[in-house]
Amino acid sequence: MTAVFDFVFLGTGAMKPTPKRFTSSIMLRYNGEVLMFDVGEGIQIRVGQSGFSPMKVDKIFITHFHGDHFYGLPGMIFTMAKGGRTKKLRIYGPPRAKEFVNQIMTLGYGHVPFEIEVNELNHDDVVKGKNYTVKAFRTDHGPPSIGYLFREEDSFNIDSDRMKKEGIKSSPKFRLLKEGKTIEIDGKKLEPSEWLIPVKGDSFAYTGDTKYSESVAEYVKGVTVLVHESTYLEKDGSQFDRGHSSVEDAAKLAKKAKVNTLFLIHISPRYMDLSVLKDAAIKIFPQTYISRDLDKWIVKKNKLVQSK
Ligand SMILES: [Zn+2]
Ligand SMILES: [Zn+2]
Repeated sequence: MTAVFDFVFLGTGAMKPTPKRFTSSIMLRYNGEVLMFDVGEGIQIRVGQSGFSPMKVDKIFITHFHGDHFYGLPGMIFTMAKGGRTKKLRIYGPPRAKEFVNQIMTLGYGHVPFEIEVNELNHDDVVKGKNYTVKAFRTDHGPPSIGYLFREEDSFNIDSDRMKKEGIKSSPKFRLLKEGKTIEIDGKKLEPSEWLIPVKGDSFAYTGDTKYSESVAEYVKGVTVLVHESTYLEKDGSQFDRGHSSVEDAAKLAKKAKVNTLFLIHISPRYMDLSVLKDAAIKIFPQTYISRDLDKWIVKKNKLVQSK
């Protein structure tokens, strides 16, 4: 188990792609698997720029079926097809996902040489992966919608202070102990339950589109990374549809949920000067970043580092 994951913002804008911001998409790598959250229009271009490979995507999670969150799906699928993919692709989404993906797959004459499995999820459904889970959570947007909470399993460290105190020297057998097996060193039996300290796994939550929701705050409590929709500033809200969050809403929710770090996504193309968004957010929740296309981050043991 690697206990580290990285993610890249592929698209961070709202409604329509612009040269600076494609629409909502994020890719996350963990333990040899690649997960994708939402698939904005033309996103295979950003995937190509990101250093991640479209061929390696294992699972695609769609938050809801508004165009700015899934119009990139046919492009991604046909990019994989042209690349000769044979590996099965799993797609997850809210109710009606099967119907919408089927419509995409029956458009035109393109041949797709791999299996696509579509799974419809309701909130609280859990997808299990290798040493991680992805849980669907309830969001409040308008059409059927869900957010996703990725969580790595807790791991264990050896209680080295106690080992030192009791004069037990480091041994290759420690690996077995960490795997939960009883070991014997110098005639002394060491039980995992006595010598291992649990280390909480890191977590990553992505809301997709939603207005401020107490229920979202509950689901994402204490996460390492929260990527929350925030389309506009509170003062501009009257011009927007109320199924969305403001910068202030996202920051308030991050504060309430006591998350480690907040990233704002789904930024309206009307904002050229991002410092006004950042200023509004950090007044409420200091540990906030305005995400930009192709920003990459590494997460390890509750710490975030921006990567090149
Ligand atoms: Zn939407
Ligand atoms: Zn949207």
